[in-house]
Amino acid sequence: MDPNEFKDFSKDMTSFIVNYLENIRERRVLPTVEPGYMKPLLPEEAPQKAEDWQNIMNDLERVIMPGVTHWHSPKFHAYFPTAQSYPAIVADMLSGAIACIGFTWGTASEATLVALLGAKVKKIKQVKEQHPDWSDSDIVGKLVAYGSAQAHSSVERAGLLGGVKHRLLETDSKHQLRGETLAEAIQADKENGLIPFYVVGTLGTTSSCTFDRIDELGPICNSEEIWLHVDAAYAGSAFICPEFRYLMRGVERADSFNFNPHKWMLVNFDCSPLWLKDPTYVINAFNVDPLYLKHDMQGSAPDYRHWQIPLGRRFRALKLWFVLRLYGVENLQKYIRNHVAQAHEFESLVLADPRFEVVEEVVLGLVCFRLKVISFITYNYNYANNNKVLIYFKNFQGSNELNELLLKRINGAGNIHLVPSKINDCYFLRLAICSRFSESKDIQYSWQEIKTRADEVLKENSA
Ligand code: PLP
Repeated sequence: MDPNEFKDFSKDMTSFIVNYLENIRERRVLPTVEPGYMKPLLPEEAPQKAEDWQNIMNDLERVIMPGVTHWHSPKFHAYFPTAQSYPAIVADMLSGAIACIGFTWGTASEATLVALLGAKVKKIKQVKEQHPDWSDSDIVGKLVAYGSAQAHSSVERAGLLGGVKHRLLETDSKHQLRGETLAEAIQADKENGLIPFYVVGTLGTTSSCTFDRIDELGPICNSEEIWLHVDAAYAGSAFICPEFRYLMRGVERADSFNFNPHKWMLVNFDCSPLWLKDPTYVINAFNVDPLYLKHDMQGSAPDYRHWQIPLGRRFRALKLWFVLRLYGVENLQKYIRNHVAQAHEFESLVLADPRFEVVEEVVLGLVCFRLKVISFITYNYNYANNNKVLIYFKNFQGSNELNELLLKRINGAGNIHLVPSKINDCYFLRLAICSRFSESKDIQYSWQEIKTRADEVLKENSA
């Protein structure tokens, strides 16, 4: 969608919104349709080619509005009010354009916790069948969950919030969690009387975008009756491209899978779908059914309030739907491939400079790099006997401090913004391709900026 189309689309949508709100009292406050009414109105699959935005406008009254309860109708007296105003609607547009991430609760982290709570309910039920005399708290005290040492902090946090033991398992030389490591941990914990119940495998770790071996973890989890959750928060969007699906080999053995279209599929924050193989256990974990929430259609469609921690939620599926239709699968694939190509372009620039090294394999849109062996050798020239005399030698090989200085210098200049990470005491810089406006010329610019700052840092530290 180009900027002019965006203007026309938003103008039309603004008219639609004004018309809808100014005439809302004319509408029936509750819908007359039944759950499932929408299915025959929609195609089976997302369109391969991008559609015109006018098609969506035409579908609002046909597809969306019949199922809407009009919470802002003056005839709506249920629950409590939910606020809505013209300024707030306009502010939401700006919020979408700025699209920053408030580092607060939500989203992929919540999915990991929800899956853990489902796994907990499932395991308690299983154990009680074998040990009817054990209480819930006896069992919970023995439960143990696993994630790799490279898993996102939200994985460890899910263990804390879920009130269970959580172990961070070591990864191999490529920083992947392997089946053998998991099997050993399970064996040791069982011998100590613990009950393994939940494993998080990460596809695309936050530090370095590496991939746990789901094909090895899955069979172990399945045979041990342990819930396998796959956190593909970043990398999941890449699986829209068939050539990247090898990275999730074995995923069919997972019990739950989560990814964030708000990270890499052009959907504004927050939008984080969670798939569950069998939702029963999650529903059992969260199901409370007070009278004021009961409705006539109970049981005829999933009640997602039983699938999550908050009761209410925003209508996030709408923005995913817009994006799928207005880009089409083809353009979303192009978007991902373009970002991956730019990451490889940056990788080549780094590799061509002998002062730098790439510390992790570049698989998707992240490049992890650092200044490597930096040896400063200074000579004194002795004219009398025409001899060079070495007076100073300093080797900065593997210097975390030097890379920290470099990053500080880059961010201090403020022309580009990077964050670091550290694995096994190796500090490195991360360059992620983030913007939808990013092009080759931006990659070249960023590299020039990094080189300039590296020149400065090296010069200052060679004395
Ligand atoms: N998991 C991984 C692998 C991530 O990279 C991130 C965020 O960067 C998260 C989970 C947390 O995502 P959210 O902010 O959606 O909870």
